[in-house]
Amino acid sequence: MSMRIGYGYDSHEFRPGVPLVIGGVRLEHTHGLAGHSDGDVLLHAITDALLGAVAVGDIGSFFPPSDPQWKGANSVIFLEEAMRQISLAGYRVVNADTTLIMMAPKIVPHAEKLRARVAELLRVEKSCVGIKAKTPEGTGTDNAAIAHAVVLLEHI
Ligand code: MG
Repeated sequence: MSMRIGYGYDSHEFRPGVPLVIGGVRLEHTHGLAGHSDGDVLLHAITDALLGAVAVGDIGSFFPPSDPQWKGANSVIFLEEAMRQISLAGYRVVNADTTLIMMAPKIVPHAEKLRARVAELLRVEKSCVGIKAKTPEGTGTDNAAIAHAVVLLEHI
């Protein structure tokens, strides 16, 4: 069976008065993530992992940050395009694993909700999505949210 692996990384800075959206889920917090789109660091990392798995570029090549039409965009749009790209290449998602790194808010209380939403977007069972959370100890990035993602694809 033909399989492909993909890896993605993203980071965004926290900013007061911006809604916080992670993994397509709105979380209550004092700060949101600054970015050209809605700043959904997790969906951006997963999008890059999907695009990387089929080697068709990255999120910036599909959705240039210089293009005003993506200002404040729902990052689900980016992920859906990446899903379309893997499908065009003849693949589907087997599983995804991710790590979120941020000082606050705590992700663990929301992890099940994030898993369910990401699983729905990747069209896999919830048991095929890992959401792990860490604090940025010793990295000096307390004002940033960082996400790493790997995805495994199988040929249809
Ligand atoms: Mg981003």
